[in-house]
Amino acid sequence: MAKLYFRYGAMNSGKSTALLQAAYNYEERGQRVLLAKPEIDTKGADKIASRLGVERTVDFLVAPEADLRALFTTHRARVRRESDSALIPDPVPSGSRPDVACLLIDEAQFLMPAQVDDLLRIAVNDGIPVIAYGIRTDFQTSAFPGSARLLEIAHSLEELKTICRCGSKALFNARLVGGRFVFDGDQVAIDELSPDRVTYESMCADCYLSESGGRLR
Ligand SMILES: [Zn+2]
Repeated sequence: MAKLYFRYGAMNSGKSTALLQAAYNYEERGQRVLLAKPEIDTKGADKIASRLGVERTVDFLVAPEADLRALFTTHRARVRRESDSALIPDPVPSGSRPDVACLLIDEAQFLMPAQVDDLLRIAVNDGIPVIAYGIRTDFQTSAFPGSARLLEIAHSLEELKTICRCGSKALFNARLVGGRFVFDGDQVAIDELSPDRVTYESMCADCYLSESGGRLR
């Protein structure tokens, strides 16, 4: 049975790099993958960009109210049609028809919980493995809605690790506006939407608590 995987981490833990590497690994073996991400992330619009410099356009974007399973079904059908027309000239037995080997989701924290439920249905009912990459918690240490649902229902959880400035494993994402730590504000504040420059620093709990004065949320 196909499974739903959630690979989560703090910011800058190499999630997009890991996703692009996973896509490459499938394609190197001649398999097809589909890449998708929620539309809310305006940074890079329809691209998945690794900080190492590799980038790639997604197959489809997922709007906040979109029916994710229907979107997947449409794009899966397209892949199967393309595979069919690429096959010359003998018809292949239906059991061995090329299909999508995996659905890869970037920025999965921004999915709606109902869309995460669709990811589980795609894995279990449609038989296609789904690997979702995302940030576990926001700058106030609360789970993003998509991440909370993934933590609840994914078959498999895997943490991608990054290091705090003190050398410990980073757990949280502290927000800086104009270079200063802030602990109040909207859950989502991406660069282009903000008048001040918003950045994030991945931190261990100890360093986070000392910057926040002991506050968690
Ligand atoms: Zn630290």
